[in-house]
Order: sequence, then structure tokens, then C-alpha cells
Amino acid sequence: MNITKTYITQNDCFQAGRTIVPKGIMVHSTATPGIMADAWYNRWNKPNIEKAVHAFVDDRMVCQHLPWNHRAWHAGDSANNTHIAFELCEPADWQTNGDYFAACYQNGVQLAAYLCKQYALTPQEIVSHKEGYRLGIASNHGDPEH
Ligand SMILES: [Zn+2]
Repeated sequence: MNITKTYITQNDCFQAGRTIVPKGIMVHSTATPGIMADAWYNRWNKPNIEKAVHAFVDDRMVCQHLPWNHRAWHAGDSANNTHIAFELCEPADWQTNGDYFAACYQNGVQLAAYLCKQYALTPQEIVSHKEGYRLGIASNHGDPEH
């Protein structure tokens, strides 16, 4: 797993400069088919985006955009105070591309394992955005289960 680190310093979330002690990991998906991991830096490295995650993952790479202990804007609720967040990217043919899914999933698993090691987290502390909603720590979204 290759992590490319480029912080989105112009994003309001980065500028807010708050930190967290990571207690878990929340997995999202972009619901924006065809926009891959290396395309989000230019889309989110500016003011008035009002969201930010720690990283984007696709079948080729992990692009990290915030320090892991930065408070990200991803859950629309209290998980922002506790969870590291990454987005799984979706290819244009996401509904039929099983090879892409397998490779992207593998990169997501490796990133989650890396973060678990770094912050002494367990697999039980990894949730999806959808699971976060059921736990009352995230807004009502269905990703990435779709
Ligand atoms: Zn989400």
C-alpha cells in the first residue's frame, strides 16, 4: 500500500486546525463514480467545501489529505471528534467492475490495518458511515454498503 501525502491546506477544515485522539475508523464511499483518489486534492483544497476526510482510496493508491489526528468533517455528527475517515472511490463502472472492487477493498483493508496498529485500535472500532448512523454518531447515509 502506497500512501501519497498532500495536505489540503486551503480547505476550511484543515484551517480550523483541531485535533482528535483517534478512537475508531469510519469508512465512506464517495458516491461520485469516475472521480478517483488522486482527483480529490484539487476538488477539496480550497475554501467553502465544508467537508474533509483523512484519505481517499482506490485500486491504485491511498491519498492522505489530513494528518491522522486532525479533526475531519465527514460524519455530520459526533464521530468527527473520534474517528479517522477515509473514502473508497468508485469507478464509472462501479456496478459491474469486480476487479476494481477487490483491489480497492484490499487497499482499504491495508490502510485500516495500518491505522489500527498506529493507534492501537481493533477491528471492532472500524465502522461504515451507515453503521455510524445506527450507532447515533453519524448522519443518515448508506455508504459504503451500496
Ligand atoms: Zn459517508
